[in-house]
Amino acid sequence: MKKVNGHEIINLFEQWSPKRFAEDWDPVGLHIGQLNRQVEKVIITLDVNESVVNEAIDKGANLIIAHHPPIFRPMKHIWTDTPQGRLIEKCIKHDISVYAAHTNLDVAPGGVNDLLASRLGLQNTEVMEPTISDPLYKLAVFCPIEHADNLREVLARAGAGAIGDYTGCSFTSTGIGRFTPTTGADPFIGEVGKMEEVAEERIEVVLPGPLRSKVLKSMLAAHPYEEPAYDFFVLDQRTEEFGLGRVGTLPASMELKEFAEFVKDALDVPAVRIVGDFSKPVQKVAVLGGSGSKYLKAAKRSGADVFVTGDMDFHSAQDAELMDLAIVDPGHHVEKVMIEGVAQYMEQACREKGYAVSFIESEINTEPFRFV
Ligand SMILES: [Zn+2]
Repeated sequence: MKKVNGHEIINLFEQWSPKRFAEDWDPVGLHIGQLNRQVEKVIITLDVNESVVNEAIDKGANLIIAHHPPIFRPMKHIWTDTPQGRLIEKCIKHDISVYAAHTNLDVAPGGVNDLLASRLGLQNTEVMEPTISDPLYKLAVFCPIEHADNLREVLARAGAGAIGDYTGCSFTSTGIGRFTPTTGADPFIGEVGKMEEVAEERIEVVLPGPLRSKVLKSMLAAHPYEEPAYDFFVLDQRTEEFGLGRVGTLPASMELKEFAEFVKDALDVPAVRIVGDFSKPVQKVAVLGGSGSKYLKAAKRSGADVFVTGDMDFHSAQDAELMDLAIVDPGHHVEKVMIEGVAQYMEQACREKGYAVSFIESEINTEPFRFV
């Protein structure tokens, strides 16, 4: 097992939940401390408060991965006789770093919204409100026939040619490449001043925009030529979409009241608030962790019968009623599903890498509401 520092762990995490998935206003990333230290235990929590920091100290964890950013608004000073200042002071005194993954973790495939959709047993889930759309590129590269197999393998390993459930997709055609090396060149094939003709393959692969520089680097490193010929094309017929909320269907239709009871159990909350006629049949369900009142129209547009989301305010509830969109509000704290979700994902990702680090699920309940 390999000893690792915070950077290596967070790099792995951000391959799943990159910062570019976050909304513009969202201060995701490292909030307190540093990532250059060795980390053996990471604690996962929805919120960071003093009890969570105490828990990290007790359990020997020196990295906290939280969903809600502990420093949400810019601070003008750190006064250690205020709760927030005391929290920061305690983290620094105990060499505990805090990293926040907020809306990027909501958007990430397998993140908060997918975890909630899966708890609700939703099928055929899709993104409710796309927020990120990556361009797709096609790379066409020319190389001598006997090197084509190797180059295809290198491109696939860099992530090019992944389409849906298929990997290593490519197309190849053959032809003749021509070139004349001039003074100063150190050609792999041919000699200076003499026109060369080489039987080459043109390999075509598609790749998502964020992989462009990685694929290009791998291709250039593996290509036998000094000056490989290649083209990148932007494709406009296919893009990969990511976004907030999920919409999917229940295996069978049920009445709103029955569905609300089901949500209560599935998300393990003491109560839910409901908007809509109790006997309304529901089957298509939109779900968005956190505060969803801004997304009523998106939920309605998605064709959902009911929208499961937290922090519903009075006037938004009235708007939902007017647009005949039922609401089940289980509160904001249901995002606690991320604790187990992130711990399990990272435990496995680090095991595959041989990293000597373990992930602990925080046991501190950060729900501020009590119910009577
Ligand atoms: Zn939240």
